[in-house]
Amino acid sequence: MTSPLALLGGRPAVTATGTHFAWPPIDDTTRARVAAQLDTAISLPGRSGIVAELEDALQAYFGVRHAITLSSGTAALHAAYWAAHVNAWDEVIVPAWTFHATASPLFHLRAVPVLCETGPDGNIDPTRVEELITPRTRAVMVTHLWGRPADTGALRAIAETHDLALLEDGSHAHGASLGGQKTGTFGLAGAFSLNGPKPLSGGEGGFVLTDDDDTYYRVLTFAHYNKRAKSEIPADHPLARYAVTGAGLKLRIHPLAAALAHDQLGRLDGYLAGRAEIARHLGDRFADMPGLHAVPMPCGVIPSWYGLTLIYRPEELGGLGIERFHQALLAEGATEFDRPGSTCPMNRLSLYRQPGPLFPGHPLSHRRYAEGDFPLAEHSYRHTIKLPVWHRGEDLPLVDQYVRAARKVTEHYKELL
Ligand SMILES: *Cc1c(COP(=O)(O)O)cnc(C)c1O
Repeated sequence: MTSPLALLGGRPAVTATGTHFAWPPIDDTTRARVAAQLDTAISLPGRSGIVAELEDALQAYFGVRHAITLSSGTAALHAAYWAAHVNAWDEVIVPAWTFHATASPLFHLRAVPVLCETGPDGNIDPTRVEELITPRTRAVMVTHLWGRPADTGALRAIAETHDLALLEDGSHAHGASLGGQKTGTFGLAGAFSLNGPKPLSGGEGGFVLTDDDDTYYRVLTFAHYNKRAKSEIPADHPLARYAVTGAGLKLRIHPLAAALAHDQLGRLDGYLAGRAEIARHLGDRFADMPGLHAVPMPCGVIPSWYGLTLIYRPEELGGLGIERFHQALLAEGATEFDRPGSTCPMNRLSLYRQPGPLFPGHPLSHRRYAEGDFPLAEHSYRHTIKLPVWHRGEDLPLVDQYVRAARKVTEHYKELL
């Protein structure tokens, strides 16, 4: 008798053809809006047109005084660090597990990323932050991994006690909230990506949120020299004299990306509500499945569901390795089941192990990171299987095929041992 498992010659559980998950959703209205931008402006050096419209809409959506668009999330993070006065040799505490761009711009400031162990949800563990604080610590950066808000209440208290800037990387978490407050608004500044698959997408782009005027002027100085710096920084501000050159970099968003992001922002809450429904549906169905476990969501935490993450427990499936388990899922046609790749504990990355060749004389040349430094983050990373979260009711049949695929593999795991 042949196994029903597709990996062993059976028929795949997922029969849907074509792309299973595409992001961002683009319809004819989106197409028309982006195309209209071609006839309006394709370069906007000032805060005008679609850039001003997008920034106004972001300010209203997040309830903040300033939103500044940039060319990418990486640029937004770089600008946020510089705006927060992170200087050479300063230390910034960052989650050990995040997409590296949360922290990598620090190398360009000659500042030191200090990696902090993460908790079961993959987010920075606030109980591990204080032991890392030194006289050189300037800021704490938090990522809301996979769109699940980190414990910003505890982090804010630590930042206040030690007089540190709290910064947020909201790149997974547009529209997520904690106790009714949106991620990206808890600290001095929030930096976001608008990259392709992110919950709010302009294809490429990013933005910084802040309520603080000086931080706003510094982001403009860092990323928007000349026209914007001249018109938005008050003449009597110490930065005004640098308006022509800024700090030497120009990191503007493209107006076509701004048009796409503006169109998407109007739909974001609808997307998030749809994702929440499907995440609940998936959560119910994975609840009693051996081997795969969701990390419980505390009360008051509303994620953006950038990904639904499941922790794989091999001991519940006879010790079956995650690689083979994942292969079996893919063979079932459930190709959106994914293991995190480059979004990994950063002590795995050459830049954090050996920055010297890229940044000679960088302070981290003395104290580098190595495999095994962050056992909890590394364990979670190695045992995570994630799914994108669909947002439309008509996706439910496909979602159920994915559930069937997972159930089938867990029921037949012995054949894979
Ligand atoms: C995508 C991402 C970034 C970088 O954003 P880009 O727009 O790709 O430069 C930074 N941090 C996190 C957590 C991200 O997911």
